[in-house]
Amino acid sequence: MADDHVLVVGAGHAAGQLAASLRQGGHAGAVTLVGEEPIAPYQRPPLSKKYLAGELDAARLLLKPESFYAEANVNLRLGRRVQTVDVATKSVALDDGSRAEWDKLVFATGSRVRTLGVPGESLPGVHYLRTAADVDAIRGEFATSKRLVIVGGGYIGLEVAAVAVAHDIDVHLVEAQSRLLSRVVSPDISDFYHRAHSEAGVHIHLDCSVSGFEGAERVSAALLDDGGRLEADLVIIGIGVLPNVELARDAGLDCDNGILVDGYCKTSHNDIYAIGDCCNHPNPVLGRRLRLESVPNALEQAKAVAATLNGTPTEYAQVPWFWSDQYDLKLQIVGLTDGYDQTVVRGDLHSRQFACFYLKQGRLIAVDAVNSPREFLFSKPAVAAGARIPADVLSDPGQSLKDAAQTWPA
Ligand code: ADP
Repeated sequence: MADDHVLVVGAGHAAGQLAASLRQGGHAGAVTLVGEEPIAPYQRPPLSKKYLAGELDAARLLLKPESFYAEANVNLRLGRRVQTVDVATKSVALDDGSRAEWDKLVFATGSRVRTLGVPGESLPGVHYLRTAADVDAIRGEFATSKRLVIVGGGYIGLEVAAVAVAHDIDVHLVEAQSRLLSRVVSPDISDFYHRAHSEAGVHIHLDCSVSGFEGAERVSAALLDDGGRLEADLVIIGIGVLPNVELARDAGLDCDNGILVDGYCKTSHNDIYAIGDCCNHPNPVLGRRLRLESVPNALEQAKAVAATLNGTPTEYAQVPWFWSDQYDLKLQIVGLTDGYDQTVVRGDLHSRQFACFYLKQGRLIAVDAVNSPREFLFSKPAVAAGARIPADVLSDPGQSLKDAAQTWPA
């Protein structure tokens, strides 16, 4: 209903978008965002890129200017945690002892870093990277650091490596798997990024992990599980995230690798929704459930839930997409590669501009596009349609993908 009080647990990207979309769609009731960070909703992707590099100031991280929330009559309760959710009385208890009632509750609790859990992890100079405060602390140490050890060769680790070598820091990166970015890209693309980082001067250690850190007043070395030892005066760990589901689970909601929701992002309780990194949703395009750590996913789920709460039930049905900036390389990913049986490269894997298409039984299911925005744009609707495009058309930069698109569905 238009005058419902919508209370959002979390004040990140998804929550900020939800508040804005509720008001844009004419929601007249109260809107409250409760977030533990002291900052209004902000964009996380620049944290490991331009913000770490010092090329973007804090104000430009914000999703909306701070004045927006007062103007839109959105109650921002920052630096506060929701401690418990009571579904019987439809209320929450906050960590300042106060309570708030809600008509509709939205979990936008996001995710938190997975921790290594090894000795020496809390030494000064050892950092995780998730919040603006984390990066503020790292930046303070960047200027004086000479040897950085990065743990994790995923998006965060590699983006940090690219920024650090540009700051003339000697970088060693430790990855547990046998290739970089193994969670998200195919071996060819892993090799491409391995080459790009090696050429830039990053020392990459595959198939190994860190068993502890040494140091007196500050970290001085990372100990490897193969017996090796890497000197370090700064360590940054990026080994993935875990969804924040505990509040929802304690409130009795169904959870399984995220808070379980239906196609409308509604949880097992009729008046409670979940959006963003914390939610596990059925994706009609992919035909299975998944939990995504992706900004476009958070934004689109927020918009869908806002529309539903404003009276127009709206299903969330998008093809996942992601991006990563490293050096001059813009990687844009559409879809998920699971189950692919053929890859087709358009362009040259040894250049800095190409697209790798993933097919399953002849249908396009995903693409990794490096410095290829046209191929990326083409692929979003093509993957959504499960288009069949002949491999010789995909592989030949001389042939128009736009023309090929005319033939859907084939
Ligand atoms: P993030 O967003 O933190 O980069 P990803 O899942 O993209 O998360 O990447 C995390 C990377 O960290 C993966 O490549 C994974 O194999 C690697 N990793 C996980 N645990 C360890 C570990 N103990 N030591 C080294 N690498 C690890």
